[in-house]
Amino acid sequence: MRILNALRKDEPSLSFEFYPPKDAAAAAALRERAARLEALAPDFVSITYGAGGGAGGAGRQEASIGATAELAQATSAARLAHLTLAGHSRAELAEVVGRFLDGGVEGFMALRGDPPGGPAAPWLATDGGLTYASELVEFIRSLSAVPIGVAAFPHGHPTAESLEHDAEVLAMKQAAGADFAVSQVLFDAAAYFRLVERAARHGATLPIIPGVMPVTASSRIEKLERFSGAPLPAALLEGVASARDGEDLARFGIDWGVRFVGELLAGGAPGVHFYTLNSSNATEAIWRGLGR
Ligand SMILES: Cc1cc2nc3c(=O)[nH]c(=O)nc-3n(C[C@H](O)[C@H](O)[C@H](O)COP(=O)(O)OP(=O)(O)OC[C@H]3O[C@@H](n4cnc5c(N)ncnc54)[C@H](O)[C@@H]3O)c2cc1C
Repeated sequence: MRILNALRKDEPSLSFEFYPPKDAAAAAALRERAARLEALAPDFVSITYGAGGGAGGAGRQEASIGATAELAQATSAARLAHLTLAGHSRAELAEVVGRFLDGGVEGFMALRGDPPGGPAAPWLATDGGLTYASELVEFIRSLSAVPIGVAAFPHGHPTAESLEHDAEVLAMKQAAGADFAVSQVLFDAAAYFRLVERAARHGATLPIIPGVMPVTASSRIEKLERFSGAPLPAALLEGVASARDGEDLARFGIDWGVRFVGELLAGGAPGVHFYTLNSSNATEAIWRGLGR
């Protein structure tokens, strides 16, 4: 129960998210970066899972399972497997859960995943499958007692009826057995605190770990805004615009990240989950910049 212990301790939890590497060279680079981040003593690390249904879905899922197993060589932190229900029957989900557990994972992120057309595309049901992440939480819980995390959306899921309904959905995930949540990437501490407050009003009192992506390249900024639905604060946009790509931007991104994560933790966030993009420098510099 290392993941739950990390969320109960006085110190903030630290976790890193990676995605499955595409080839052998990327796999070696990921092992090297994960090993480097090991020096920060993360509580857990996770690997994303390719939602099924689209072209190459099965291959991406195998890559997730393989990469999650391989991470054991690079880190002593607990490994958390992302699992999406999209494109899977219940029988397949049970098999994948079993394979992850056999490979030593200590918890799951239970997610719906997106249909091939993206998060806002109409949902495509799978014969014998599930529809909502809350059902996947219940399903995993029926198979194992390991900790289960779920997704939370500070600015609402792209198809959410309303922010209030989104908070009700989070409460349903908790009622189904979820132990904690990780937020979609965000850049605004106030939005995180509003999410926590709204969730609590609807009975979702589980710890919500804010998801933080270090700012490292200006080309990524607009993409991030579209992808996450998270409006970027003016100070961030101005700082990125005035820094040139390269060292200036790297310095700005780290300083901004240190202030942002500092604000989240000072306001009571239970920890921080870094979307590392399989890189380590910025994540490491931000955490060290906080004096951790
Ligand atoms: C931290 C994090 C990690 C992620 N990792 C991955 C990953 O590894 N792989 C991947 O493919 N995707 C990943 N995603 C993306 C995620 O799969 C998508 O955002 C997906 O569209 C929603 O997933 P969910 O688990 O929130 O689904 P759900 O909770 O099922 O919500 C999906 C939609 O249905 C609505 N809804 C939910 N329950 C009900 C209900 N009972 N009645 C009516 N409406 C309902 C919600 O409001 C929402 O609009 C991740 C997202 C986050 C935040």
